[in-house]
Amino acid sequence: MKVLKFGGTSVGSAQRMKDVAKLISGDRKIVVLSAMSGTTNSLVEISDYLYKKNPDGANEIINKLSQKYYGHIDDLYSTAEYKQKAKDHVNGIFDYIRTFTKDLFTLFEERVVLAQGELLSTGMMNLYMEEIGVNSVLLPALEYMRTDKNAEPDPVYIKEKLNALLEQENDADLYITQGYICRNAYGEIDNLQRGGSDYTASLIGAAIKASEIQIWTDIDGMHNNDPRIVDKTAPVRQLHFEEAAELAYFGAKILHPTCILPAKLNNIPVRLLNTMEPEAPGTRISNETEKGKIKAVAAKDNITAIKIKSGRMLLATGFLRKVFEIFENHQTPIDMVTTSEVGVSVTIDNRKRLDDIVDDLKKYGTVTVDEDMTIVCVVGDMEWDNIGFEASIVSVLKDVPVRMISYGGSNYNVSLLVKATDKQKALQALSNHLFNN
Ligand code: ADP
Ligand code: ASP
Ligand code: MG
Repeated sequence: MKVLKFGGTSVGSAQRMKDVAKLISGDRKIVVLSAMSGTTNSLVEISDYLYKKNPDGANEIINKLSQKYYGHIDDLYSTAEYKQKAKDHVNGIFDYIRTFTKDLFTLFEERVVLAQGELLSTGMMNLYMEEIGVNSVLLPALEYMRTDKNAEPDPVYIKEKLNALLEQENDADLYITQGYICRNAYGEIDNLQRGGSDYTASLIGAAIKASEIQIWTDIDGMHNNDPRIVDKTAPVRQLHFEEAAELAYFGAKILHPTCILPAKLNNIPVRLLNTMEPEAPGTRISNETEKGKIKAVAAKDNITAIKIKSGRMLLATGFLRKVFEIFENHQTPIDMVTTSEVGVSVTIDNRKRLDDIVDDLKKYGTVTVDEDMTIVCVVGDMEWDNIGFEASIVSVLKDVPVRMISYGGSNYNVSLLVKATDKQKALQALSNHLFNN
């Protein structure tokens, strides 16, 4: 069985939902839906008002959002019976959200509010499939998607519960379920972080040993550079799991970074497809590598670089361990690392503990911090015996000041750290020279 995930824009209007309905009719499959586009952002806004004890502000957004949904209902269903069923479903959820405007609002309530977007969209889609005569059922994500005490998905639990639910509903022709939402180790409603519906799809794919995981979105696959920033990008047809993971982690928004691992561990191909152009081939992500090719560029913003220089590092053992331990103690992951005999530079994207980290590092040497940096990551077959790739990448950036270069950590990437203000220039130059010649 295949797992198909449709993102927010793919279910963003009644017409889009009808287009999705055509794509999911036919073979039996599991369909994962995000909230309709804009809904999760509105739920975040509602929560912000409630944190600030401003129920009027929250109610205004709730009313606007519910009006939008009434419009979608009018456009989507053709019979009075289903319009009413959908209205009851939507009203139930908005009435529930309104109950949060009256009480204490904490992180716990916020997570419940954020979960309502996917409950809205899946309920509506399921009713629409029913109306057009498809034997579809809802699989409640809150009954099978769970994270453990480390906030990591619990694959054993997910597999057992999901397969039991599928068994229970084994005469259905279509399964529809919510992306993003889950329960945590304490049974509370929680989520897999913004953009996490992709993760839901790959966790389901792994749990049922799917033949393929399809991520349907608003673009024809992974492009060779960020289409929001660079002119003339083009889709990449094939990527290795590692290449896709690097691109997703380093900023290619089309894919949530966590979503590759479950697919890779179970060797399930992932395809990125375009709801607006369903015939387009998209991108296939699998175990296969295309030899001798630079594939794509991505960029990750809000990076801080930290340099520790110390004469004591010279010929000393244990220096790097002590440095890394400080980051570990402050629960701050490191992205890039470059070293010389007298110093080490690292980058982080979580600045919460920066001051404490710097204080601790000062025990070992002189510390310099550069903020507002961007990691530019070039991905492809970067085996070290391929001649010339690093040279051509670096030479393209000859007019851009480069703070760090990291190569050789994996067979798939070269990363460069530049000022955020040079990001657009660097990305465009790389596209022009690597792909558009
Ligand atoms: P969805 O709502 O379907 O999950 P997202 O907005 O999360 O969709 O991801 C799709 C968007 O990712 C595209 O519209 C595109 O602007 C952006 N994007 C950023 N980098 C890339 C890239 N390298 N290739 C394709 N899309 C990218
Ligand atoms: N609806 C959630 C979000 O907007 C999850 C997702 O779309 O993947 O982040
Ligand atoms: Mg997304």
